[in-house]
Amino acid sequence: MGIRQLSLASYLILCLLPVFTWANTAAQENTCTYHTYKWNVQSKSAVERRLVEKPYSALTPQERDASSGCSVCLEDQLQITLRNGVKFKMCAVLAERTETTLNRLLVRGEIIDSVTGYRVGLTRGDVDSNGNRTEYSNHSFGIALDINADMNGLYGNCIPFNEGCELRKGGRWQPNYFGGLHKDKPTVRAFKSIGYKWGGEIKGRQKDFMHFSPSGY
Ligand SMILES: [Zn+2]
Repeated sequence: MGIRQLSLASYLILCLLPVFTWANTAAQENTCTYHTYKWNVQSKSAVERRLVEKPYSALTPQERDASSGCSVCLEDQLQITLRNGVKFKMCAVLAERTETTLNRLLVRGEIIDSVTGYRVGLTRGDVDSNGNRTEYSNHSFGIALDINADMNGLYGNCIPFNEGCELRKGGRWQPNYFGGLHKDKPTVRAFKSIGYKWGGEIKGRQKDFMHFSPSGY
């Protein structure tokens, strides 16, 4: 190798070194962060609250929603602020059409007083020997929304809705009140038109009138 070729090789190395260094640093910074808890069915309370920080490469299948690609990581969520100032976080994949839909509903005069999206917790699935749930909810991946929880409660023991249903979360269902949800309200129709299902129409023992998610529950 002549002196000219050698200096060209050195030049290339010097030019590419910062790129390699940057790529390496970016990989190191690719950390997934989330706060989580377990729902205990005996005490009916959140237990074992903790902060998780791990490399993305170490995520388990349980920490991802296979169909959307969304994960429990805070880094996959977008902060949304609606035109009336209501704030929530949800998975970036669904954020744009959801934000547009909610803002259109507000322009039409619909009441959207509160929205909860991303909220990580093991609140579903089988119960372990300590009475704790073992699977992440769709809220954990930022792919579910609770709208106006104060007047659209979650009921158990509820097929179909009647006086025997037990209110488990949120406020008593008031479908005819402003902000109350039922199948003919513009908010429910608009969400169904963009691919969400409504928790008020869940088959089975629960009715979750505040809840919307593309996969149902
Ligand atoms: Zn929900």
